[in-house]
Amino acid sequence: MKYKEGDKVIVSTNKGEVSGIVMPSKRTVVIKLESGYNTGIKKSNVRGLKVVRRATPVKKKVKKVGFKKGLPTVVILSTGGTISSRVDYATGAVHASLDASDLVGAMPELKEIANIECKGILNKMSEDIKPGDWVKIAKAVYREAKRKDVSGVVVTHGTDTMHYTSAALSFMLEDLNKPVVLTGSQRSSDRGSSDARMNLVCSVIAATSDIAEVVVCMHGTTDDAYCSVHRGTKVRKMHTSRRDAFQSINESQIAMIRPDGKIEHTNRYRKRAERVVKLKIGIESQVALIYVHPGMNPDLIDWYVKKGYKGLVLMATGLGHVPSELLRGIKNAVKRGVTVCLAPQCISGRLNPLVYSNGRKLIKAGALPLEDMLPETAYVKLMWSLGQDKPKLMLENLRGEIVECIDPKVFESP
Ligand code: ASP
Repeated sequence: MKYKEGDKVIVSTNKGEVSGIVMPSKRTVVIKLESGYNTGIKKSNVRGLKVVRRATPVKKKVKKVGFKKGLPTVVILSTGGTISSRVDYATGAVHASLDASDLVGAMPELKEIANIECKGILNKMSEDIKPGDWVKIAKAVYREAKRKDVSGVVVTHGTDTMHYTSAALSFMLEDLNKPVVLTGSQRSSDRGSSDARMNLVCSVIAATSDIAEVVVCMHGTTDDAYCSVHRGTKVRKMHTSRRDAFQSINESQIAMIRPDGKIEHTNRYRKRAERVVKLKIGIESQVALIYVHPGMNPDLIDWYVKKGYKGLVLMATGLGHVPSELLRGIKNAVKRGVTVCLAPQCISGRLNPLVYSNGRKLIKAGALPLEDMLPETAYVKLMWSLGQDKPKLMLENLRGEIVECIDPKVFESP
């Protein structure tokens, strides 16, 4: 069964036959079906595989992308995810990663917004991204962000863990003086309903704006009305499949961007100014994010301590509680120098562990309540703060990760 990526094949298993285009994969046979969805088949379950059409070799890449005088320069760094995978149904060729010529070729409107440079740094689905990859991405962004001729940087990324990476870049890049915009897509660009095109167009517009922060720019509604720009430390993927899956939590989005270039600012943000960006990439990897739940084994905390973990973020229930049985382990962890933090499992709202006695005991045990900091942001920030040897930074609001006063309307409105 000799086949290549991009070949159209019919695979038979003892459950029947599937036909489609072979996608990149090492361990399984992954087929893109006519519907646009992918299906994976274990190689051991494949009874037969027939190639019905060979992939056409991918055309040589055009190296030079047109340069227009007077337009700002935007660098697009690709890291993988759905936005970076595309099947050209006409030729059957699989494009595993975007580059400048692919992009500008497929989206000529980008050329009217900015001069685009594009570099590939990783090619991973975001569920496989590791903290070391955040460092790699931060270094690459830093290299571009320091360039005087670059207006802003766009990072294309898988959506599943985009909010972890946006938090990591927010902390690792200090005194940012231009936009760093993360974007991705929920549907791959070879599907009619793909959000890739508009997300990328709006992200390039965001990269030319005066928002000097790390942000996520994704569809704001299920239609193509506008994209929302979210602060990198206050954003979360809140839906498995909707195009408007990303939402700002406890605050409104920073801006709404329409694909025609209109920007409407809807929240405070840091503007461009004469600052020199600094790269702070030190991270401590021995940190865990723990979802507290009824019936959890209280020995879990001791296990992390024994394994040498330096920090724990407990996703506490309600206003900031954990089962009483955990208190002993937490006290012991803190005594041994482990930084134990509390973040809200409720996601929306602020912790106030002083309301109930359980919470008060937790604070007495030395756990740090992180107000309304998102659990994922707290996890990334704890790695970073310990990496900087400054765990007390957890209580400071460095990159807008804590909202001082939450507007109740933010939770009420969609
Ligand atoms: N699992 C993919 C990823 O996060 C999904 C996506 O890109 O939308 O890389």
